[in-house]
Amino acid sequence: MTTAPQHQYAPHTTPGIAAATTDLTKVYGTGDTRVTALDQVSIDFREGEFTAIMGPSGCGKSTLLHCAAGLDTPTSGSVRVGTTELDGLDDRQLTRLRRDRIGFIFQAFNLLPTLTALENITLPLSLAGRKPDQQWLDRVVAMVGLSQRLGHRPAELSGGQQQRVAIARALTSRPAIIFGDEPTGNLDSRAGAEVLGFLRDSVRELGQTVVMVTHDPVAAGFADRVVFLSDGRLIDEMAHPTPERVRDAMLRLSGGSR
Ligand code: ADP
Ligand code: MG
Repeated sequence: MTTAPQHQYAPHTTPGIAAATTDLTKVYGTGDTRVTALDQVSIDFREGEFTAIMGPSGCGKSTLLHCAAGLDTPTSGSVRVGTTELDGLDDRQLTRLRRDRIGFIFQAFNLLPTLTALENITLPLSLAGRKPDQQWLDRVVAMVGLSQRLGHRPAELSGGQQQRVAIARALTSRPAIIFGDEPTGNLDSRAGAEVLGFLRDSVRELGQTVVMVTHDPVAAGFADRVVFLSDGRLIDEMAHPTPERVRDAMLRLSGGSR
């Protein structure tokens, strides 16, 4: 587990950290409806590392991703991306940081149906008034195996291909970090394994940093490490996971030998 008191003293100076949270707490609602979704979560996401986040439904996985990606605001504690403390940013700066430094992949691919695969991939850059780096774009498109599909619209692509478009879209701006919230949750196991393979390739071949929420021990087995969340707290961490070890840990952490 990552408890890192040194953060309190040197929050800006750790090299090799793509993003980090320090004592991140998120409370929703008030009074009877008050829910502590995250309770002082401190975690580092190292550059070029593939992290899986696991834990029971409602334990705060999506909230952690949303806060770390600047899509939701912490109640207390801090988030930084690279050396940028999110707390210090105004709305315009935060929007720009999300656009330029962060990629997000959703369970429901979130592609625009009227645009081709290529147009979807380059849309964030187009909106930012930037031209894609053609060499990089070619490399990303080739890596996710979409070279022959760039003119297709989402409806003409399988679920796995649509999620590969979403991965390429996330990679194209060369973000500091890509977050995926159950990115294979809508895919069958074969298409899911393919998508996970491409995410892992993006880490191995492109040096991308990836953080992914998953329920699935097989999916977690693609990652370099797994962190386990329960009731808004980090309770364990595993390096070099295999599906078997992840399954064992889930059983152990849920307190059962079921
Ligand atoms: P997970 O992704 O692990 O299933 P979430 O991060 O979605 O968990 O939710 C953590 C807790 O916070 C849950 O109890 C959930 O009901 C609550 N929660 C999440 N988002 C909101 C919200 N916008 N308003 C109120 N409660 C929320
Ligand atoms: Mg969730």
